[in-house]
This record gives sequence, structure tokens and C-alpha cells, in this order.
Amino acid sequence: MNFRLPAVALLFVLAASPAGAQQYDIVLANATIIDGTGAARFTGAVGITGDRIAIVSRTPIPAAQAKRVIDVRGHVVAPGFIDLHAHLEPLLQMPGAESAARQGVTLALGGPDGGGPWPFKPYLDSAEKAGLGINVAFLVGHNTVRREVMATANRAPTVAELEKMKAMIATGMKEGAFGMSTGLRYVPGYYSKTDEVIALAKVAAASGGIYTSHLREEGLGLIRGVSEAIDIGKQARIPIVLTHHKAVGQPTWGKSAVTLAMVDSARRAGIDVMIDQYPYTASSTSFSVLMPPWALEGGNTELRKKLANPELRNAIEKGILELLLNDRGGGDIKRVQFASVSWDPSLNGKTLYDWAVKRGVPPTPEGAVQLVIEGVLKGAPSSVFHVMDEKDVRRIMAHPQTMIASDGRLSEPGVSVPHPRNYGTFPRVLGEYVRVQQVLTLETAVKKMTSMPAKRLGLADRGCLREGCAADITVFDAATVADKGTFASPHQYPVGIEWVFVGGQAVVADGKFTSARPGHVLRKR
Ligand SMILES: [Zn+2]
Repeated sequence: MNFRLPAVALLFVLAASPAGAQQYDIVLANATIIDGTGAARFTGAVGITGDRIAIVSRTPIPAAQAKRVIDVRGHVVAPGFIDLHAHLEPLLQMPGAESAARQGVTLALGGPDGGGPWPFKPYLDSAEKAGLGINVAFLVGHNTVRREVMATANRAPTVAELEKMKAMIATGMKEGAFGMSTGLRYVPGYYSKTDEVIALAKVAAASGGIYTSHLREEGLGLIRGVSEAIDIGKQARIPIVLTHHKAVGQPTWGKSAVTLAMVDSARRAGIDVMIDQYPYTASSTSFSVLMPPWALEGGNTELRKKLANPELRNAIEKGILELLLNDRGGGDIKRVQFASVSWDPSLNGKTLYDWAVKRGVPPTPEGAVQLVIEGVLKGAPSSVFHVMDEKDVRRIMAHPQTMIASDGRLSEPGVSVPHPRNYGTFPRVLGEYVRVQQVLTLETAVKKMTSMPAKRLGLADRGCLREGCAADITVFDAATVADKGTFASPHQYPVGIEWVFVGGQAVVADGKFTSARPGHVLRKR
């Protein structure tokens, strides 16, 4: 509405609401404000009206102007955290998203690693209907569309197949995807050549999308993997995220110095590349990552046939041994830990070493090769791989283009032993890497969790703490905030995250999860 009130009417309006009585639904008083831009903290108050931030004030807001005042003295008030790499698959079973909300996450981006829902819009609609605790957004996945069109064929697409995939990416983008993800290490993405990905990324770019890449290799082939992802972004003219950036396996430790230099030099050449990272020295993915990808074409039926051929079996065994020694096996089978073993839950939390001992085979990489085959054939368990070096984690985190993202799966305390990142990513950065190790200042850490990912997603009114921004807000105690989950006992909520507001409604209140469901599915316009 845009009309002019006569002066008399204006006077009447002012008289009817004296100096904005209770103009704010909530005021966070005595706050230490860190606004997400990287600027230094200051003391003040934040007023929320409806689902928006109405005011960020350096002076106190009179209590009479608020329906509710929450005194957050001694606590940091920051924009809600944005998780750029979230495995949201259990969302319809866990719409409250407690494991994310209790970390201070108010917006999570699903569909990473080439995955993601399909058909796209119906899934987004059902998520919206489910009533969500946090806001979510989605990428359209390269692996998802390739599987729809070509199953797990290990070859280039025909012209018609490529057109079909391009049309699917275009549909996803039209229906609100924020971009496209690839998981080039996984089947079937591994079977695609770079030009296929460039062709599809161009379609996402045409709608203003981003490109997030789980690299083709993160171990011995790391440098090639980074250079391929940068090339895809350059050719397709699309903003890049090198997601969950890391250096896997001892021969590759230290190589983050090279990959970060590649990012810097690409940026100097005008290529828009950023990074995200989770703050742990272990990764988590399917146990089948220990199987050479070429062997997985056609699934277990075809794998059995290949294993019956002595020559192919020999090649598969050699490939597994190579991966155990130099990649996700880390050269020591104690580094491979089972998260969720459907066919033997007693192995949950145990290592490949434990399984070898239990089975009476030599507990060495050589001895474990047959167990890898057996494990994949029985149904590859979700697993945790302790194969990164702390120095790389710190170096990557400190890089100015690195954002924080969990790569975590929505979780509820339960039977499996998942990666603790599902519960602790954001508090761990604020506790371990800001307060204890001082890798980042608090202001920089918050920036990497808020304004940087918001900007990457093209969301001008999120990840910020100023008038007009969405009232997605996280309040935490910088002196105590910490992750509690461990690799042995991951199902533990963090401490120190006291209030989390999504659209102005508290999903965490005074440290307790509420039943509020103010979240929405964000669709790119
Ligand atoms: Zn991944």
C-alpha cells in the first residue's frame, strides 16, 4: 500500500499508539551482538516483530515497548546458522529437525553430494506440509537425475539422455532449487565425464543457481578433483562450493596448502569459488567407498558376477587394498568405524579391525580385503573414516573463503553410532576452534556460519542481524558453548546454545527444544 494520510488522520494514528507501545513481540535485552558481517561485537538489544527483525539497537529498548523481554545478558546474539551441506533425507520422519536446531541452525541446505529429492516439487510440498522446526532449501542432484535417466550405466550419455538430464535440472531450478550438487566419487556420478557436468551446470547457472561439488577424489586424486570442480565452475560460469573440503589419507595430508592456493589463484582469475568444511578429522559415508567405483556398476548382482571372474576379482581386490592403504582406509583398519550395520548391529561403533579379529582373519589391510567385499555384498554399512589430519582441518578453516557446514544427517538418539557432526558441528567450531584452539575469532566464525552462506545462496535477508532481516536468530554462551557427542557416543546434544528463533518463534528456549514448527521450505525465485 502506498497512500498519503491527511495530517489530521496521521495525528490520530500517532495518538492511538503512543510512541509505539509494545511494538515488538520480543526484545532480546542486554545482548552481546555479533551481526554476522565479521564486525566487532557490541552491546545492545534486538527487537523482533512477527517473523522479522524490527530493530538492532546500541541503546536499551524500553521494556514497555515489548510484549516480552528476554534478558540475554552475557550471551551472544547472532544470526541463525546456515548449514550449506545437510543430509535432510529423514526430514519427513523428523520434521522438528532437533539435531540441527539445537546446534543453532535455522536454515539447512539439502540435496548435497549429487543426491536430493526427485520429483522435486512434490517432495518440497510434502516437507512444507509436514511442519518444520527449521527452514530448509534444496539442491537438485546430478546423481539423482543421472540415475533416473541412465540407471548406473558406466558410459557417457547419448544426446537424448543428456537433453533429458538438462530438462530435469531446469525443472528443479524452476521449482525452487538453489543450484546443483554433484557427488563425482559416487555411483553413478563417477561414470560421468567433466563435459557432462559442465553441460548440466550451465542449466543451473542460467537460473542463478550455485554448484556444490563433492569432488571426484579427496585422497591421492585431490588436486585433480579440485581442478576439475574449478574448471566446471569456470566453463559453466556458476558460483562453486568445494564442499566438505579435506585431505583424505596420509599420503595426501598437507595438500590443503596446495588446494587453498588453487582457490586463491582461481579467485584472482575471476572464478567465484568458495569452500565449506566440518570441524572433525573423520569423514562419514558408505562402506562401499572402499570398493573401486567401476566395480559397483549394476549394483550387487553385477558385482557378484564380476567377483566370479578371477581376473576381475583380482582387480577389485587390488583396488580395495589401494583404498585401504592410501584413501578412506588410512593405512590402518582401526581407522574404519561402523556407524550402522543392518546385518550385525553388534558391530555398530566397532572398527574394521574389531571385525577382522572377531572373524579370525589377519587384522591388516591385506587381511581385510575379503571383509570389504563381504560387507558391501551384505549391504554396505554407513561408516566413519578417521583419515584426516588436524593441521589440514585448521588450515582449511582459517581460509577466508571457508564456510562451516555439517555434512550431518538429521538424527535422533537411537541405535546406530553415527558421526558426531550430526549433533555438534557448529558448537564445536565455537567451542573447540574459537575458544580453545583460537583458530578463528568469534566474529569470523559467526560470519562463516551466517552471512557467507546466505550470500552464497543469494539470500539478502538471511544470515544477517539488522532491521528487515528474517528473525532467524541464535543466542549462545561463548564461554560454555561446546559439542558433547564423541565418536564412541555421538548421540549427545551440545551445550551453550540457549535460544534459537526461526521466523521469530523459539524452537530452542532457555536451552530446551520446543514443539514450535515455524520453519518453511525456501524456494529460489
Ligand atoms: Zn559428500
